[in-house]
Amino acid sequence: MAKLYFHYATMNAGKSTMLLQASYNYRERGMTTMEFIAAFDDRAGRGRIGSRIGLAAEAETFRHGDDLFARIAEHHDHTSVHCVFVDEAQFLDEEQVWQLARVVDRLDIPVMCYGLRVDFQGKLFPGSHALLAIADELREVRTICRCGRKATMVVRLGPDGKVARQGDQVVIGGDDKYVSLCRRHWEEEMGRWPAEDLIGFAGERSRAR
Ligand SMILES: [Zn+2]
Repeated sequence: MAKLYFHYATMNAGKSTMLLQASYNYRERGMTTMEFIAAFDDRAGRGRIGSRIGLAAEAETFRHGDDLFARIAEHHDHTSVHCVFVDEAQFLDEEQVWQLARVVDRLDIPVMCYGLRVDFQGKLFPGSHALLAIADELREVRTICRCGRKATMVVRLGPDGKVARQGDQVVIGGDDKYVSLCRRHWEEEMGRWPAEDLIGFAGERSRAR
């Protein structure tokens, strides 16, 4: 029985690396896979999934409003598809998540989505919201905060190295940097709770120098 999977994490947890490895495992056995990534994610080049450890693969892109069921069904019609992979799945819209659910239910093809759960303000992305609601399997990809606790949150650092506390959910092509933190340290960095230690970003920067 095919399933809709959502592998979620915060930034830099290795989601794309996991996706590329899982896809490779299918292809190595002579099976056909389809890979998708959000069209505006051009960090690894257009239509390319890249990982921080250097792996990369070609991918189809999706945009807001694309019918993913139609695209996968059309491909499946002439070449049997064994698994579908979606990177940056937080950028799917709700309808696209339902289209992927239909790929699972009507075409019997497993769909593996990888993405962020929450943005830098601690709010769900549209794709994550829908996937958390209807995916068959939720799998957390773990990474750790600087303190060693599990990191579930992310802060955005602007070009000045300061933590952004407001702004758009997505900034494309900026010099912003993202750092994954535990919830406790996220609240301190966001100014929602007094900082209890001195290992905030000011401290990290001085150590890096
Ligand atoms: Zn922490």
